[in-house]
Amino acid sequence: MESKTPQNLRVLFFPYMAPGHMIPMLDIAKLLSHFGVQTTFISTFGNAPLVETSINHFNSTNSSNPSIKLVLIQFPSAEAGLPVGCENASYLTSLDMLVNFHKAVAMLRQPFDQLLEQLLPDAIFSDYFLPWTLDSASNFGIPRLVFYGTSTFAVCAMHKVDHYDPHSRPEESFIVPDLPHPIHMLKSQVHNLSKTDPRIMKIMLAADESDEKSYGTVMNSFYELEPDYVDYYRNVLGRRAWYFGPVSLCNDNIFDMSTRGDKPAIDKDECLNWLDNKKPSSVLYVCFGSMIKFTSTQLHEIALGLESSQQPFIWVLKKELFEDEREWLMEEYEKRVEGRGLIIRGWAPQMLILNHEAIGGCLTHCGWNSTLEAVTAGVPLVAMPMFAEHFYTERFIVDVLKIGVGVGVKQYGTGQRFEAGMEKVGVVVHKEDIERGVLTLMVGTEGEEMRRRARELKVSAKMAVEKGGSSYLDIGKFIEELSQKKTEVI
Ligand code: UDP
Repeated sequence: MESKTPQNLRVLFFPYMAPGHMIPMLDIAKLLSHFGVQTTFISTFGNAPLVETSINHFNSTNSSNPSIKLVLIQFPSAEAGLPVGCENASYLTSLDMLVNFHKAVAMLRQPFDQLLEQLLPDAIFSDYFLPWTLDSASNFGIPRLVFYGTSTFAVCAMHKVDHYDPHSRPEESFIVPDLPHPIHMLKSQVHNLSKTDPRIMKIMLAADESDEKSYGTVMNSFYELEPDYVDYYRNVLGRRAWYFGPVSLCNDNIFDMSTRGDKPAIDKDECLNWLDNKKPSSVLYVCFGSMIKFTSTQLHEIALGLESSQQPFIWVLKKELFEDEREWLMEEYEKRVEGRGLIIRGWAPQMLILNHEAIGGCLTHCGWNSTLEAVTAGVPLVAMPMFAEHFYTERFIVDVLKIGVGVGVKQYGTGQRFEAGMEKVGVVVHKEDIERGVLTLMVGTEGEEMRRRARELKVSAKMAVEKGGSSYLDIGKFIEELSQKKTEVI
């Protein structure tokens, strides 16, 4: 990527402490550095392993661009009533822990303010879940850009659904009002705000209020993926937004792809060799992101559904999920699927896997990063949404992009061990549903058509970030605006 020469612009990045927020924000820092911007990335000591290798490699191989400076601060776990070392939202296992986590995050204001005073950057990019960073930035006259980490489609749909308030109405299903496409949803798939714990509600309201008052938003998406919604967001909702994505594409070599996020639990060569021995587009990649903690019974159903589909697969199991009573079953299971199924226990080099030609589909929880990474690799999806904005993303994949099939999850927030105050239900998706979804995508003409469309999107994603592409130009426009502001101040 070609560097411009902005006026020594300096941007400070402060992501929420969760992999799905830290990883794309680091990619944005890399992108801005490619454009000659000086970047500082803030995180906490316990979260350093998620970004350190990637930053060090970037700095040692991009000597013509400014290096990314990593600043680590202390996370006050114990002071906020959390176990020592609990510094990442992916470690949380109860609602009380989530509340305490946000207490600890709010306590970061003091070290953040000190840093701000010291660095006086030209802009800060901070997470939607760090609303107080707006006040800090405003005190120093610095613009704050908000990072959501989701699609424009989901932001627009959520905005509409919140106003429509389906839970106050008798109908079980509804069409999201006033969107460019007719989006049908069940009331049960939508977060019930009136039943939300008041402590969580307070956090959400503060985040919304601060978001609206901020300078603008920076999106990990690209215009051609969701043109109707980008226009809607900018012109109808009147929001200022810049599109920099797909940001993962700044990792264009095997080392960067395989060291994105945590240390992989599998050697990259072992993983690539396994895939090299499979036919093109024959393997299903199964990963539910970094946050979901399924119940053992739900995991069992997923295992059986994958087995009975008879399709080759790579299944990523989060660490805590194989350390319980299911382990014995998993060993026996692994023997049954030997040669056909590869189980990765822990962190997977997801970008590397998705971009291998043997991958023909991805079973996902509909986290936005994973969804966009699959799109960018030309891989269609089987959607198994769980909570947050996942159900909206499912509709985007199935109804708008037409690059995926759902397994039929009807209830928001169930099937997991920790359900943010929702009723706990052991199994949401049965093995037959998994098998049906997988077979629709991996076998037959319907899946082939979805794969064809996904490959078209892969081409437009690459074009968006190349010189002259929509995201490339948007980064340029953003830098120009910031440079202009700086000149005015001087
Ligand atoms: N990820 C990964 N390996 C894993 C699990 C996750 O590389 O084993 C990455 C994935 O590529 C994505 C992020 O972690 O960039 C997960 O973000 P997403 O929005 O998909 O889901 P979340 O974890 O936020 O629910």
